[in-house]
Amino acid sequence: MTGLNGCKIDHLGIAVRSLDQALRFYRDQLGLDVAMRETVVQEKVNVAMLPVGEPRIELLEPTEADSVIGKFLDKRGEGLHHVALTVPDLHAAVERLRRSGARLLNEPRAGAGGHLYVFVHPSSTGGVLLELIQE
Ligand code: ZN
Repeated sequence: MTGLNGCKIDHLGIAVRSLDQALRFYRDQLGLDVAMRETVVQEKVNVAMLPVGEPRIELLEPTEADSVIGKFLDKRGEGLHHVALTVPDLHAAVERLRRSGARLLNEPRAGAGGHLYVFVHPSSTGGVLLELIQE
């Protein structure tokens, strides 16, 4: 058995129209700390990371309407966008998922912090976009 042993929840990605407005709740009202704020140019998104114990909440604000998050907001409105798990061996996990017929959205590629990640299509996961990240 390889692939998903030892996986952990890394973060919950939440699409919002305005980071500042969302932070009024998550930071000011709920009292979470903002560990990191950055713009990911290639994803056209502003990101804020708020640790909740070890896992984090990732707030995602589109920098352009014509972006993955911008289109998501148009279609679905604000809300949970994806669940992210870290796995000890991403390539083994990808192989295992492929063999069993799961629908992956991309080849493993490097994201923020240089960590490799893939997305698994909601049609394979019970309706939630799933991000798998190399630990
Ligand atoms: Zn994410």
